[in-house]
Amino acid sequence: MLSAQEIANYQAQDNSLKDRVILVTGAGDGIGKAAAIAYAQAGARVILAGRTVEKLEQVYDQIISTGGCEPLIYPVDFEGATEDDFNELANQCDQQFGRLDGLLLNAGILGQRTPLSSYRHDVWTKVLQVNVTAQHLITKALMPVLEASDNASVIFTTSGVGRVGRAFWGAYAVSKFAVEGLVQTWAAETEGLNSVRINCINPGATSTQMRAQAFPAENPESIASPQDIMPAYLYLMGPESSQVNGQSIDAQIK
Ligand code: NDP
Repeated sequence: MLSAQEIANYQAQDNSLKDRVILVTGAGDGIGKAAAIAYAQAGARVILAGRTVEKLEQVYDQIISTGGCEPLIYPVDFEGATEDDFNELANQCDQQFGRLDGLLLNAGILGQRTPLSSYRHDVWTKVLQVNVTAQHLITKALMPVLEASDNASVIFTTSGVGRVGRAFWGAYAVSKFAVEGLVQTWAAETEGLNSVRINCINPGATSTQMRAQAFPAENPESIASPQDIMPAYLYLMGPESSQVNGQSIDAQIK
């Protein structure tokens, strides 16, 4: 595996994802949007999954206008989606492509920045549904089509507050601790049994709507842009990370 510095500075070969079929969740905005565009520019056929169709259409247009392979749009809301909905997504991948080569599980919500003692139950339930339960169910449903690929990569999204507990991050922090555990458990259960690798990325402070919601007083230009952190996303999705499994990787050097 490359060092943290090498990952943060990674330069993918041209067409490193040529003809790969990659599904990105939360592809309409922020980091997911940048990743969908980066994967398309690297030659992938990207499935843009998310809840706001207009945003997904804008990403679609941007990919087409920059000469990328025509993406697909798949509307899905992780708050209400059921196991049947994810199984239907898997069926459609199977029918259309016979496989899935990459899955970037990026969609997430912040919830409240408040002490646990006053955290609202309904917000807690929603954050864990979107950030954990739906992430697990979509992975479970898509595993057969991922196994049909010769070399598939699943990337969950973690956070620094999912590694060390910090005050006032509530359900979001707990959800990211759960993501770290999910990745380790999935990776341990599938190691040596199939060609699917399962890892997570910690983007680090990145200028998006979620970051602005968490740190409203911060100057967005003082931190990384979503485009700045794409080297790690390209590395972990591409062929050079094919032996990396069960790892939690930083997109930025500390
Ligand atoms: P954004 O808020 O910019 O984007 C989040 C994306 O998730 C949006 O596309 C949003 O869709 C989608 N989404 C939210 N809820 C749902 C839902 N119920 N169903 C389907 N899609 C949904 O956040 P970021 O780009 O910053 O975050 C991306 C990931 O990176 C998250 O997992 C976050 O926790 C993680 N992260 C981000 C950091 C940062 O500094 N930005 C730091 C550490 C981790 P829509 O646009 O329709 O709302």
